[in-house]
Amino acid sequence: MSDMKYCNSLNTYSRRKSRVVHIGDIPMGEGYPIRIQSMTTTNTMDTMATVKQSIRMIEAGCEYVRITAPSIKEAENLANIKRELKNRGYETPLIADIHFTPNAAEIAARIVEKVRINPGNFADRKKFEQIEYTDLEYDAEIQRIKERFLPLVKICKEYGTAMRIGTNHGSLSDRILSRYGDTPLGMVESALEFLRICKSENYHEIVLSMKSSNPLVMVQAYRLLVNRMDFEGMNYPLHLGVTEAGEGEDGRIKSALGIGSLLEDGLGDTIRVSLTEEPEYEIPVAKILVDRYTDRIDHEPILEININPILPFEYHPRKTHVVLNIGGENVPRVINDLTFLENINKQTFLELGYTYFDKEDKWGISDLACDYVDIGKKEIDFKIPGTLGIIQAYSVWKNSKKDRHYPFLNLQEYLDGMNFHPQLNILRITYAQLSDQVIIKIKNDPTIVLLLDTYNEHGMAEQRQFFIKLINSGCTVPIIISRAYSNLKPEDLQVHASTDMGALFVDGLGDGVYIAAGGCGTLLSVNSTAFGILQASRTRITKTEYISCPSCGRTLFDLQETTARIRSRTEHLKGVKIGIMGCIVNGPGEMADADYGYVGTGLDKITLYKGQEVVSKNISTKEADEALIQLIKDNGDWEEPEIVNGR
Ligand code: SF4
Repeated sequence: MSDMKYCNSLNTYSRRKSRVVHIGDIPMGEGYPIRIQSMTTTNTMDTMATVKQSIRMIEAGCEYVRITAPSIKEAENLANIKRELKNRGYETPLIADIHFTPNAAEIAARIVEKVRINPGNFADRKKFEQIEYTDLEYDAEIQRIKERFLPLVKICKEYGTAMRIGTNHGSLSDRILSRYGDTPLGMVESALEFLRICKSENYHEIVLSMKSSNPLVMVQAYRLLVNRMDFEGMNYPLHLGVTEAGEGEDGRIKSALGIGSLLEDGLGDTIRVSLTEEPEYEIPVAKILVDRYTDRIDHEPILEININPILPFEYHPRKTHVVLNIGGENVPRVINDLTFLENINKQTFLELGYTYFDKEDKWGISDLACDYVDIGKKEIDFKIPGTLGIIQAYSVWKNSKKDRHYPFLNLQEYLDGMNFHPQLNILRITYAQLSDQVIIKIKNDPTIVLLLDTYNEHGMAEQRQFFIKLINSGCTVPIIISRAYSNLKPEDLQVHASTDMGALFVDGLGDGVYIAAGGCGTLLSVNSTAFGILQASRTRITKTEYISCPSCGRTLFDLQETTARIRSRTEHLKGVKIGIMGCIVNGPGEMADADYGYVGTGLDKITLYKGQEVVSKNISTKEADEALIQLIKDNGDWEEPEIVNGR
């Protein structure tokens, strides 16, 4: 399995050993903490606004500040920004963000501590013209890039400037697309082409990133990058991030799911949480993620994994059989914990996606209606929604056996008992309890669904090991991934749960999710986190997906306000992906995954896209919202929003 290796260990926490890269006075890599960074959203030519925003970011805990340099004049202005920051007592390393403009990179590399280039557009403009390259043509292209790239490498060497080779899914060159497609492999090769040039010049102050707005693609690309670097004897540090993650809860969950999945396996030397919000708001989220790996205590020892059936670079969901409505082709189920409540009444279900209409005596069901609730030893004395199942402690269930109530068993009850439910029984189990005897029994029981729990703060590797053991035993029983949390704020819960459970869903493991988090927010926020994890891992789509960039100095409209406005009109369009991007330079490429795109092309100019195709060019901001809605309607993706109680 060594050709699939992407981290030091799958069964103990071990941070990957990467070489140290010097970025001003804040080095990164082996032996140093995982660094936190972000990017300004101001106009780079507005020195004071950029300085003030940078200070807000630094005060919040940002260790590197990235600033866009779209052309030579912005690159030159980095000197003024740097001077002003220094005058105010801030020596935080600055990073110039470069796309398309090698000249700007060469100037910036003499001023700031690090430059970021995108190998997809450093020396290439996308023409979408050539789809086949002969080996000769391909080599000639590499030679052309080498000539264009070498001056920058030499300047970086001379000035001691570091460099990030930052590949983005969706902005790969025509050359790479022709040979590898828009795939994790294409992303990795795109970076390796540039990396080999650096290596040939003996320049090693390099950091790498493989970002995508799709966390699955992002995770696979980073893993593959490490695998390929190991093969070529390289150990450059990794900058982790999910691009265009969006805002609010969705943005946090998506980022945590992608970044956290990699951190759990010991990958990552610096992170950026990319939200469509003020950059200083990204820092606390990044801190929650990183703090879990500072002085991390490892989980209980788990066995070495000799045969790993999980393919780390491709998505292949685990095959399971169906038990009632769990497993097989069913979407992953959401189970909520109500055991900690004093009373359960009809109002309780309002937070879980169900609305009771008194007059009609019926339940309304939303897209975020959970599938099961665990009520422990309590009873429910009213008519429950038709799509809801109740999980009840076995000791209570066996005496009442009410309709759509199913027993929750511990291992002893399961091994000792009989007369269980004829269709569905939920068995709570941990990795330590999974003996060969238990595997044989559950393999022969068509009514059992496992609820996989862990007592470890970092239980992902242990839970993954559980899945591996079952897969290797040929056992296809459905498994609900369960985690219990206490004393966490809702934002911490979002980040922790997305990391712990998301890392499993990314690998196609899990037939449902159960977050027991009484006291960590409202039922509404816990339920929403569970659905958010499934949405971000693309295993159950229940919402509109917004791929919105965080904005930067290239943005000529208020991205946050625009995103909020578009969201208010479209958030009922389940499964539709809408890209809202600040600029034409990177926007279209980086929203590669979107069904519709709203992209800034100049002052008061918006261009609308259907997929990657331009539909309306340079329309005014005033017209753009309506035109986008019309575009969605014309393509049959529009539904009128549901009106509930006159609202
Ligand atoms: S897509 Fe957004 S964040 Fe990226 S360069 Fe353009 S405006 Fe800046």
